Amino acid sequence: MNCPKCRAAMETVDFGTNITVKRCTGCSGLFCNWQTLQQLREEWLSDAVLDQGNAALGAKHNAMLDIHCPDCDAIMVRVQDLEQAHITLDSCSGCDGVFLDAGELTDMKSVTLMDHVRRLVTKLGKTKPGKTKPGK
Ligand SMILES: [Zn+2]
Ligand SMILES: [Zn+2]
Repeated sequence: MNCPKCRAAMETVDFGTNITVKRCTGCSGLFCNWQTLQQLREEWLSDAVLDQGNAALGAKHNAMLDIHCPDCDAIMVRVQDLEQAHITLDSCSGCDGVFLDAGELTDMKSVTLMDHVRRLVTKLGKTKPGKTKPGK
């Protein structure tokens, strides 16, 4: 399997016990299916382990059009991430494959983490402040 963006070979990388993705040996782009992507979003540190590429190069690759799926060779279409519209993924029109440029998984996860923090803060804000005043 070769990278649809830079044509370098893609290697199989395991994360944990039940996640396997293909990673480009050239640009570090990631290829997996949507179900796996969902797992990656939920797995702590999956971005730090798998997404080690150059984000600037990834951003450049993200602008490429007419990408063919490395798995089934069908054309890949650009789709916006449902939760974070600024992230554009390449989704295969033939199979359920999805390609992430270097930095995109990290982007996805970091914003997700921020969202968690925001939710937590909102929750805390709603609880009544305790009666104990700061000492003095
Ligand atoms: Zn590549
Ligand atoms: Zn495909």
